[in-house]
Amino acid sequence: MSSDRLLEFDDVVARYEPVFGLETHVELGTASKMFCGCATTFGAEPNTHTCPVCLALPGALPVANATAIEDTIRIGLALGCRIASWSRFARKNYFYPDIPKGFQTSQYDEPLCTAGHLDVEVDGETYRVEIERVHLEEDTGKNLHVGGATGRIHGADHSLVDFNRAGIPLVEIVTRPVPGVGAKAPEVARAYVAELREILLALGVSEVRMEQGNLRCDVNTSLAPVGSLEWGTRTETKNVNSLRSVERSVRYEMRRQAALLDDGVRILQETRHFHEDTGSTSAGRSKEEATDYRYFPEPDLVPIAPDAAWVEQLRAALPELPAARRTRLREEWGISDTEMAWLVNAGALGLVTDTVEAGADPGDARKWWLGELSRRAKDDGVELTDLAVTPAQVAQLCALVAAGTVNDQLARQVLDGVLAGEGSPQQVVDSRGLAVMGESDELDAAVDAAIAGAPDVVEKVRGGKVAALGALVGAVMKETRGKADAATVRRMLEERVLGS
Ligand SMILES: [Zn+2]
Repeated sequence: MSSDRLLEFDDVVARYEPVFGLETHVELGTASKMFCGCATTFGAEPNTHTCPVCLALPGALPVANATAIEDTIRIGLALGCRIASWSRFARKNYFYPDIPKGFQTSQYDEPLCTAGHLDVEVDGETYRVEIERVHLEEDTGKNLHVGGATGRIHGADHSLVDFNRAGIPLVEIVTRPVPGVGAKAPEVARAYVAELREILLALGVSEVRMEQGNLRCDVNTSLAPVGSLEWGTRTETKNVNSLRSVERSVRYEMRRQAALLDDGVRILQETRHFHEDTGSTSAGRSKEEATDYRYFPEPDLVPIAPDAAWVEQLRAALPELPAARRTRLREEWGISDTEMAWLVNAGALGLVTDTVEAGADPGDARKWWLGELSRRAKDDGVELTDLAVTPAQVAQLCALVAAGTVNDQLARQVLDGVLAGEGSPQQVVDSRGLAVMGESDELDAAVDAAIAGAPDVVEKVRGGKVAALGALVGAVMKETRGKADAATVRRMLEERVLGS
C-alpha cells in the first residue's frame, strides 16, 4: 500500500540520531462538557448532547467547568509541573465543519501547568521525558464522511457532523523534544504514553480508553546525522491511538526519513496519517508555513488564578502514583526490577495486586497470571483482563492448591471450568469432582491394578532399579485422571512392591 522506501532500522540508528516529541490529548471523564451542562456520555445518538453554548448559537455564553480545571492541575502536579498562579483561555481561530464556533477555546501563552517531567523505564534504563506544558481546551465534533472507500473526505459523497463530542474537556500534554535515546526512541515513546496512561488512571481523571479516542497522540519525529549539532526537520503523525501504534509510527518515520536523507532528499515539515493495518504513515497537510491561528485571550471567560493554598491541598491529596506504587509492591513482594517489568509489560500488575489483596500469596498470584492465564489469553487472542476469571477467583484457586484440595494439574482443570462459566473454583471442584483423591478404596484398586498390569516393571524395581517405579506412578495417575496425589501414590507403591 505504501510505496515508501525504508531503511533497515539497524542502519538508521547506526548513522542517524532520532528526536521525538509527543502531544497527547486526553478527554477528561467529567460528567458535563467544558463550557456547558451537556452530558459527555460516549456513543449517544448524534447531536443529542448539544445546547446553544456548544453549538455556538448567537448570544450563548460559556462557563468553565471547575472539575476540569481541578483535574488539569492534578495532572500537572502528578507530572511535577509548575502550576500557574494566573492562566487564561484563548481563542484558536480556524474554520472546519467540526468546530461550530469557528474557533477552539484553548490555552496559548498562559497555560495552567508548565515545566514538568516523567521518568520512564525501558529495559532497566530510566529515561526522563521533559514536559513543556499541560493545558486545557475543548474537543471538536466529529465529521463522518459517507460514501468513500476510506472514510476520509476524499472520494466521499457527502459528510455529516456530530457535535456530541464538541466541547468535551480535553487536556493537552506536550513534551519537550526527546533527544539522545537512539535505537530506543520507539520504545521510550511508547513507554511514555503507557506511563502517562497509568498516571491518568491513578488520578481517576479519565477512563483513558484509547480505542474510544479518550487518549490520542500526535507523534513528532525527526532525524539528524549522528554527531550533528542541529536537529532535523520533523514530521507530525496525527491521532495515533494505541500504544503499539505510537511505537510503530516512530519506527516507521525513522526508517522512511533515513531512506530519504540517504538519497539527499529534504524532509518536508508536514502532518502525516498513521495506518493501523500496514503500520505506515502517509502525507497529510504541509506545515511549511505555520498556520496563523490569530490567538487572542477569550473575552467571554474570566482568567483562572489558582490559589496557592488550594493547589497545595490538591498536591497533598494526590493518590499514590504508579511509580511509587511499583516500588512499594516490589519491596512487599520481594521481587526484582526485571520481574516487576515483566508484570507491567504483561498488563498483569493490577490483576496480581487484586489477587494478592484477595488473599493469595504474591508468588502464587504471579505464577498463575504470568503462566497459565497469560498462555490462555494468548491462545484466545485476548487481553488478560478480558479472561472470564476474576482476581478473587484466582485467589480462591490458590487457596485450594495451598490447602491440598487440588494439585496444579487439577487446578488447571478447575480453571477450565471457571473460564467456561461453571461458577467459583470450589463449585467447579464439587461439580466436576476434581478434589485430590486421598487414600481410598478407589486409589487402592488403582495401585493394585498398576502392579498387576506391569509384572516386568515390578521385577525391575525389586531387582534394584527403583527409578522404574516412576512408570507405575504414571500408570496410577493416568488411571485416576490426575486426581491422585503423586507422593501418596509413590509411598503406597513402595510399600506394596518393596514391602518397606
Ligand atoms: Zn452544550
